[in-house]
Amino acid sequence: MVGREIAAADHPSKEIREVLKRLVSKGWVLRSEGHWGTLYCPCEDHCTVIRVGGTPKNPSQDARRIQRKAKWCPLPPDDPRAALRGGGVVN
Ligand SMILES: [Zn+2]
Repeated sequence: MVGREIAAADHPSKEIREVLKRLVSKGWVLRSEGHWGTLYCPCEDHCTVIRVGGTPKNPSQDARRIQRKAKWCPLPPDDPRAALRGGGVVN
């Protein structure tokens, strides 16, 4: 986590913006890294990290890819254990 925090609303694709907004509202953090940004899951050890490109060839497909990957994070963001978990990486 080195990049500055960026807003979901900054993404040029509406479909991806919607997905990013939903994830950010659930506690995911979006940072300016890589080609456009990187999403970090709400867990303390960031078990799930998703690269977000700024100019996907197929925005619908990319929006689905991001949603699919977001499900890898094992704890629902409103689960208090999500904030307590640390140490071991769960994949
Ligand atoms: Zn996680």
